[in-house]
Formats: sequence, structure tokens, C-alpha cells
Amino acid sequence: MRIETLLLHNGNELDPQTGASSVPIYQASTFHQFDIDKPGQFDYSRSGNPTRQALEDTIAKLEGGCRGFAFASGMAAISTVFLLLSKGDHIIVSQDVYGGTYRILTQVLSRFGIDSTFVNTTKTEAITQALRPNTKAIYIETPSNPTLKVTDLSEIVRIAKENKLLSIVDNTFLTPYYQRPLAFGFDIVVHSATKFLGGHSDVVAGLVAVRDEQLADQMKTLQNAFGAVLGVQDSWLILRGLKTLQARLDISSKNAEKLAVWLQEHKEVEKVYYTGLEEHEGHRIQCKQASGHGAVLSFDVGSGEKVRQLLQKIRLPIVAVSLGSVESILSYPALMSHAAMPKEVRLKHGITDGLLRFSVGLENVEDLMEDLSQALDSKVSFAVAR
Ligand SMILES: *Cc1c(COP(=O)(O)O)cnc(C)c1O
Repeated sequence: MRIETLLLHNGNELDPQTGASSVPIYQASTFHQFDIDKPGQFDYSRSGNPTRQALEDTIAKLEGGCRGFAFASGMAAISTVFLLLSKGDHIIVSQDVYGGTYRILTQVLSRFGIDSTFVNTTKTEAITQALRPNTKAIYIETPSNPTLKVTDLSEIVRIAKENKLLSIVDNTFLTPYYQRPLAFGFDIVVHSATKFLGGHSDVVAGLVAVRDEQLADQMKTLQNAFGAVLGVQDSWLILRGLKTLQARLDISSKNAEKLAVWLQEHKEVEKVYYTGLEEHEGHRIQCKQASGHGAVLSFDVGSGEKVRQLLQKIRLPIVAVSLGSVESILSYPALMSHAAMPKEVRLKHGITDGLLRFSVGLENVEDLMEDLSQALDSKVSFAVAR
């Protein structure tokens, strides 16, 4: 079955007992054992719960993995995956990885003797130069945030296989609807399901899908041991969000593409980052490995003052961190997601004081353009403000 159908028919669309049209929320922490010599499938909800299980089976199917795991947040999912590493291990990581991922590696795992090197994973030489005898894993994000650098999935798998590394990818920005890294040979896919999979800015959740049974057993042990599992109500909300993933992404990505082209022509905009634009550095590789470009773009208005002016005047998008929701979300990386990064490093990565990230929602695209127009064009008040 194709992904559009799998989103709705994946074995978890009905309650087999009653025929109910959605998975019941099993609000229970423990399970009665009818025969102590024949333990049931579930015993305690940290170890397993039928509602969470339905979500875990669903993400495994969607990503083409053998098993899935649901966590209390994207960071809980990512942190639990990192527990596959041991003291003395080294990991290579995409340079512009999510801030929380950078933090757990540099502030927490470093204290447990796990070293990380951050490199531009769009360049093969940068990766091979960072290899050490104790390198055990490579972790990438593609496209990356906020300048949407595209890493070649096949190339990472090749390097990983050659050097016996575990390959891990954060697939939050594209979701399995547009990109399925396990099919390229990746070992583990992680998600912040808070974003597109949930899709309504109302749940914090994380998901993992793995390629083979051995890894699945290890992840199962770590999930149960660490215990950062997703609650049942939130599991149900992610299952509900997934049903409309196609519809939401089709519309918001189409909107994003139109906005990217429109912003490029706008005289107040200096640069637009969107992998759907032919001139984007990663366009060709993105087209090769993903079936769409997603709903996130970034654009540079030239200065922090212009950003402030725009954010004051904009009416439709909410101004917030996060992305991937039904409503448009504008964020300001310099003061939000990348505030902790030293300014020189931030500027080197193209995260200037004029850069805004736009997670495009389901609004009418012309309304979004009109709103951006009035917010970008208000030269008069800008002159006064100065
Ligand atoms: C938000 C995000 C995370 C972290 O997920 P949480 O659900 O906020 O813990 C990880 N990776 C990416 C790419 C994200 O956007």
C-alpha cells in the first residue's frame, strides 16, 4: 500500500473488540494477569500500553521499519536513542542540528564520556575527516534548520556501512509522507511528533522507528529502562493527527512553494531558503531522495530592525518556536532556536539577524501574501522607528 492509504489503513484504524472507529484510550497503568503462568501481552504501561502500541506500530509501518517507539517528547526519543552509545564512544553529528540535540550531546552525554563532533554533513570529506577509531554513529538532520541544508541520505549510508557506524536521522521536517530514510538503509529514524505528525500545536511527543529486530530489542529495553514514554491521551492525539498528514502537508507545502517564489521577488527580501527553489544548493539531492519539499522556508529581510517591524505588523502567523502545524508559525532563529549559539558561529551558518523561519500553514496563500506584504512594505513607520 502507498503512504496515503497507509496513513488511514495500517491495522490500527479499528478497535478489534468493538469495531469502534478509533483506537480506545486505555487509561490504565497496570494490567490484571488472568494466569500468572501465562503473562498477558501487557503488564505495566511504562513497558507497554495498547493505545501507545497502536501509535508505535503505525510509525513503524509508515517509516517502513520493523518496530516503533513513542516517547514523551522529541528530545526524550532522541536522548533514549543516544543511550545506545557507551562511555568512550564518539558520534558525528550534523553541524546545524536541533538545539536540544546539541545540548544533550555537549552538556550531558559529554559528562558520561561520549564525544561528539559537529560537521557539515553535506560534505563527504568533512565526515571522513571526523572519523575516529571509536566513532560508533552518525546522526543527521535533513533538511536542516533553519537554512534547509540537504544531506545526501545514500552517501551517509555508504559511509556508515563502510565504517560500521549506526546511522540515525531526524526526519521531523519532512515526515514519512515525503522522505523514508530506512528505505535508503538508515538504521534509526527519530521524530519530534510535536510538529507535523501531531500537526495542531497541541501535543509534545517523540517517535522512533528502527530497521532491524536486534536494534528494536535494544530500543525496547532502553525505552522501558529510561521510562520517558508517551501518555495514552497524547498517543491518541498523534494517531488522530496522522490521519490528516497527507491533506495538511499537500496544502501547506503548496502554500510554502508559492510563498517562496513570491518572497524571492519581493524587494524587501534579500534571500529565500526553500529546497523547492531550483537555485537552492540542495535542490537536486532533495528531489532525488524526497517526494516533496515540505512546508518550512526561511527568508532574510536584512536586519534585526526589519524583523522587529515585520513581527509587530504581521497578523496571521503566530510568532513562536515550533513548526508543522495547521496554522502558520513565524520564528526568529537569532533570538529563539539559536539564541544560545555564539554570534560569530551563528552568522557563519547564515543565521543572520534578519533571518525568519516560516512554517506555512493551511491559510489561503493570498491572505498570507497580503499579510506579509503589509508587514514588509510599511517603510514609513520603519523610518519613524529609526
Ligand atoms: C522540535 C524538534 C525536536 C525536539 O522535539 P520536542 O518534541 O520539542 O522535544 C527535534 N528535532 C527537530 C528537527 C525539531 O524540530
